[in-house]
Amino acid sequence: MVSPSQILASPQESWHQIADFRSDLALRTKCGLDKSLPCRFVDRLNHAGTSVRLPEAIAQALAEVRSTVSPHLSFTAPPLATGCALERYDFIGPKAAHDFIRIGLFTGIHGDEPAGPIAATRLLAQLIRQPHLATGYHLTVYPTINPHGLAAGTRHDEAGFDLNREFWKESSRPVVKLLEQELRAARFQGIIALHADDTCEGLYGYAHGRLLNEELLRPALRASGQHLPMDQRPLIDGFAADEGVIHFCFPGVLSAPADQHPAPFDIILETPAKAPDDLQAAAMVDGVLAILAEYRRFIAFGGDL
Ligand SMILES: [Zn+2]
Repeated sequence: MVSPSQILASPQESWHQIADFRSDLALRTKCGLDKSLPCRFVDRLNHAGTSVRLPEAIAQALAEVRSTVSPHLSFTAPPLATGCALERYDFIGPKAAHDFIRIGLFTGIHGDEPAGPIAATRLLAQLIRQPHLATGYHLTVYPTINPHGLAAGTRHDEAGFDLNREFWKESSRPVVKLLEQELRAARFQGIIALHADDTCEGLYGYAHGRLLNEELLRPALRASGQHLPMDQRPLIDGFAADEGVIHFCFPGVLSAPADQHPAPFDIILETPAKAPDDLQAAAMVDGVLAILAEYRRFIAFGGDL
C-alpha cells in the first residue's frame, strides 16, 4: 500500500483536483508509476515551482520527507501564477478523545531565513518517527512560502514585497491570496510562524498581547533555550520585551481572519539568524513541540479555549 506521503501533485493540476487524489493507487496509476517501486515522480518536479531551485539543504530535506512512507502524512502543492507552488504538508497524528486540533505552521515567508524551512522539515521527519508527539493534532505545514526569496536568499519575494506585511489588506501577491483562502477554510486553532532575526542576541517571540499566546510562548522559549540563548534585553527589534516576549504586533503579518471566533492562538518564534542554521532549527523544532504539548494541557484542563 502506498502511503499518503506519496500523494503527488503536478503543478498543472488545480487545488481541487489535487484534493481529490486521495486514492493513492489511482494517483500512481495516473502518474504511470510501477506500483511496486518507490514513487520517484516527485524527484522530477521542483516542488517549490517550475522556475525556482530551492537551496539544496531545504530541497533535499523536503524531498526526503515526501518520499518517506507514513500513514500520517500527505503532500500537496497548489500552483501559483508566479510559476511557484505553495507546498503544503498535512500531518494527522494519532486520534485522541477530542476532535483533532488544527494547527498551521508557517515558515520561509522571508527568504533569507532558511532555518524555518529546515526546522519544518525536521519536525515532519521527527513526527513520522514519533507520531505520538502529535496525538490529537492535525498539523498543516507550509515550509516554503516564499520560494523565490529562499532561492535568492532575500527577505522579499520576486516582486520586492515583504509577504509578512501583506495579509488581510487585499494584497496582489498570489501566495498571500491563497494563504488567506487556506486560513479562512482551515480555521486553525493555532498559528505558529517561525522566523529568524539577524539583529537579536538570542531567542524571543511575539505574543500579540494575548495571555494564551504568552502562556504558550514562554514554555516554547524555555524548550528552544536548550539550544540557543534567550534575548534578555528589555528592548528587542525596537519593542519592549519581557524575558523574550514581545506583545506588539505588526500590521499585515500572517494571521487568522479577524472575524474568526474564537481567535486561535498565534505565536511568532524568532531565532538569532547569525547562529548556525542547525542550532536554530533544533531550537525551533523543540519550541513547536513544546507548544503542542502545552496546548494539549490547556485543552485537557480548560475545555474549549
Ligand atoms: Zn522573518
